[in-house]
Parts: sequence; C-alpha cells; structure tokens
Amino acid sequence: METDDTDRKMEELGGNKRLSETPPDDDCCPICFGPFTVPCRSNCGHWYCGSCILQFWNYSSASKPCGCPMCTCMIVNLMPEASLEQQPQNQEVAEVLKSVRRYNLLFLGGACGFIQAVNIFFLLFLAESA
Ligand SMILES: [Zn+2]
Ligand SMILES: [Zn+2]
Repeated sequence: METDDTDRKMEELGGNKRLSETPPDDDCCPICFGPFTVPCRSNCGHWYCGSCILQFWNYSSASKPCGCPMCTCMIVNLMPEASLEQQPQNQEVAEVLKSVRRYNLLFLGGACGFIQAVNIFFLLFLAESA
C-alpha cells in the first residue's frame, strides 16, 4: 500500500498525472472539501463536484469561462464521470448534468465560433486587398 502511495505522489510531482475517468478514491472536492457529488473533470484534469464548480463560476463572472481554482487554467470543458450517464439519475443529478452540458456548449462552442469568425474576417480582408 505504501509503495502505491509513493508512486502516486511521484506522479503528481512529475506533473504528468494520468487522466482518469473517475476521481481518485481518496480525493475530495477542493471547493467544498467533501466527497464528490456529480464528479466532473475539467479540461486541465482537476475534479470538482458539478454543482460546486458551477457555483464558483457564477460567483466569478458568468460571461467568461471559469478559471480553475486549482491551477487558474481556463475551464472550457467539464467532463462528468462516465458512470453518471449510465446509472439512473435522480432529479438533482440530472439538473447538474444539464447545467454542465450548457456550460460546455457556451464556452467550447463559443471559442470555436469566435475563431471561425476571425478566419472569415481574415479571408474577406485578403479577398479585398487582392
Ligand atoms: Zn464540492
Ligand atoms: Zn486545473
């Protein structure tokens, strides 16, 4: 057991933590310091309760992607734990999953849309100056 723990610490120190589909067993949510409810992984690899990270985002600025409280990376994608989609959901879980999906659409889609708009503008600019 002790060896496992050391291995994990080494991995974390090395910065190449493997991305897993489920939060680490002995981990807790860095926002509420409790066990995860509706665990969601951010694009930077940190786990939060779905409701915690969405609440944190609402407290900061809801018009901008949420900065990760752990690494200040911009969160544009939240991945709910895979098993959540399969197991029967209670109302509360379903609501959180819905909000998480809305969040992803807002910023993941938004960022792509913005880049596309810039590309189109650039092409028009080229066409005009030719
Ligand atoms: Zn939490
Ligand atoms: Zn992070």
